Amino acid sequence: MTDRKTQLAENLARVEERISSACASAGRRRDEVTLIVVTKTYPASDVRLLHELGVRHVAENRDQDAAPKAAACADLDLTWHFVGQLQTNKVRSVASYAQVVQSVDRTKLITALSAAAERAGRELDCLIQVALDAEAGERGDRGGVAPDGIEELAAAVAAAPGLRLGGLMTVAPLAGPYAGRRRAAFDRLMELASRLRMTHPAANMMSAGMSADLEEAVAAGATHVRIGTAVLGDRPRLG
Ligand SMILES: *Cc1c(COP(=O)(O)O)cnc(C)c1O
Repeated sequence: MTDRKTQLAENLARVEERISSACASAGRRRDEVTLIVVTKTYPASDVRLLHELGVRHVAENRDQDAAPKAAACADLDLTWHFVGQLQTNKVRSVASYAQVVQSVDRTKLITALSAAAERAGRELDCLIQVALDAEAGERGDRGGVAPDGIEELAAAVAAAPGLRLGGLMTVAPLAGPYAGRRRAAFDRLMELASRLRMTHPAANMMSAGMSADLEEAVAAGATHVRIGTAVLGDRPRLG
């Protein structure tokens, strides 16, 4: 193996071990949690190595970087997740490679995604991004809708041709009442996800947990964890 592949294999093994022990501690089966590797700022060659090492879900947060990377890896059976703040003028591009858009946080975006999905003849899975630090009626600084806005967006996704409502996504807040309380934040997301499932039973995805807090997310019931630095290494400041 190349040095880079060896390094990625070791990192993946460590992350796998963390997910497995978090599942064991929570009394959950390992296959209840899907590992998504966030490859932002890293090259397509790394995505290729990750695929050779068994990774099947990758995520990106900027269309400018993701589109060429996805094109360079089009021969691989990978599921691409989009996890960044999304402008409507990027939606058509994103819908051409992403299977899952995890950062849905406003109606205008839903309308654009639906049109793009229909045009591409694809069915897109959408997660509503929840900003646990946003005031009622507002959106978060890093995207996401306040909890009181979930229902309206969920109904809009469910009614939109070409879109499927997958569930909820969050990033642990850096400010507000949940700052530094990741487990409480993820428990709150679980509460909101359970409530959503009462009206949308198929919306069973809960995407939470990154390199620093995957254990708390798995304990709270996350079905998808999004891991970047713990697999690929520290990103340059920009990412
Ligand atoms: C970058 C990113 C991640 C991964 O974060 P790490 O701390 O590198 O594991 C997860 N989710 C989102 C939305 C991201 O932008």
